Amino acid sequence: MALIVQKYGGSSVADAESIKRVAKRVAEAKRAGNDVVVVVSAMGDTTDELIDLAQQVTPMPPQREMDILLTAGERISMSLLAMAINNLGVKAKSFTGQQAGVITDAVYGRARIVDVVPSRVRETLDKGTVAIVAGFQGVNRDQNDVTTLGRGGSDTTAVALAAGLNADVCEIYTDVDGVFTADPRIVPRARKVDRITYEEMLEMAACGAKVLMLRCVEFGRRYSVPIHVRSSFTGQTGTLVTNIPVAEEAQTVEAPIITGVAHDRSEAKITIVGVPDVPGTAARIFEVVALSGANIDMIVQNVSAAATGLTDISFTLPEADGPAALAALRAVQDEIRFASLQFDDQIGKLSLIGAGMKSSPGVSAKLFAALRDAGINIEMISTSEIRISVVTRQDSLNDAVRAVHSAFDLDGEGDAVVHAGTGR
Ligand code: ADP
Ligand code: ASP
Ligand code: MG
Repeated sequence: MALIVQKYGGSSVADAESIKRVAKRVAEAKRAGNDVVVVVSAMGDTTDELIDLAQQVTPMPPQREMDILLTAGERISMSLLAMAINNLGVKAKSFTGQQAGVITDAVYGRARIVDVVPSRVRETLDKGTVAIVAGFQGVNRDQNDVTTLGRGGSDTTAVALAAGLNADVCEIYTDVDGVFTADPRIVPRARKVDRITYEEMLEMAACGAKVLMLRCVEFGRRYSVPIHVRSSFTGQTGTLVTNIPVAEEAQTVEAPIITGVAHDRSEAKITIVGVPDVPGTAARIFEVVALSGANIDMIVQNVSAAATGLTDISFTLPEADGPAALAALRAVQDEIRFASLQFDDQIGKLSLIGAGMKSSPGVSAKLFAALRDAGINIEMISTSEIRISVVTRQDSLNDAVRAVHSAFDLDGEGDAVVHAGTGR
């Protein structure tokens, strides 16, 4: 008998029929003799619709109220799923994040899980009942307020619970067959990866592959939780995220150099024009940006023009952090004495990821050549040991992803299947 945590994403529980289909899967796992914990997302695009609704009421909703609103989405799906499972003759009980013991910090909208105390879930399992837990939410211990974990946060609830309960596996059920070499909605020829290391999956998730939320992969790695990403629409095996690379287990030839191509449309670029090129300026600029709460990504500083002693500094950050960062910089314009600020939210980021690139020369050259051949201009570049990222215009990002995917021979034979979802 195993302890299985199953997580179903929004498109897997989009309507009553889908909920009944998922209930059957859960009942089967339970009847096969397993202890089953189910983490569920809000139905379909409910979270986006609730955000739209709040925007219609006020342009600046208080974050505490926003979290109370958004946690309602998962309460609907958890109770409906529990009803559907009970209807099949299998006992099931639903719990909010708070009832399931998901304790977070107090940062509304993107709270971090600081502890998991799943005693009620454990008691429920001990009684032979399936425990359904609302994903994406927790409670902040100090104020006893509900919090949300950030978009895609149900993945993190699932892996954190799997770690807290010492589960045998955490199955993430979604609308595609697993982790692919690129987003199958953009690259139809993307191939499913059978196995991926936490390290590579972390880079993919950090670079925009939203099939798994970044923090869930961090949890998985820290607590060695095997994560199985698979479709809720078929019985096929999906992708296993573990510590062991394919090649090592099979003891065959080397692992492929490239794991995949990720893309991200959610960042923006700020350029600070005419910055005096003297020691301490960059430190001051990024102190100010950090205090605004912005999480910066790439940074580029131009060579200072000899005649003027001035330089330009550009950096990327989540688009949502843009207004606060701009306001903070404007407030120190006279002190730093830069000329002006530019904000560009029409950028896209493409990242090529693969542990094998550490020891394989020529990967960057091949990437840049593929973009050149597709007529795509590169605006910024950054690299890590196992990743190369470039910034392009947002409207050429899809073409860039397809060109790079082909250039690295990642294209598969047939078209990848996207079972459901709107890709929102
Ligand atoms: P869920 O609602 O089940 O959590 P998400 O929409 O959050 O589903 O994540 C699944 C989606 O992630 C897929 O439909 C796909 O468009 C997207 N995606 C992006 N990159 C990848 C990738 N490399 N492999 C698989 N899916 C990806
Ligand atoms: N419902 C939340 C969202 O749409 C959490 C999740 O689905 O993982 O982001
Ligand atoms: Mg998701």
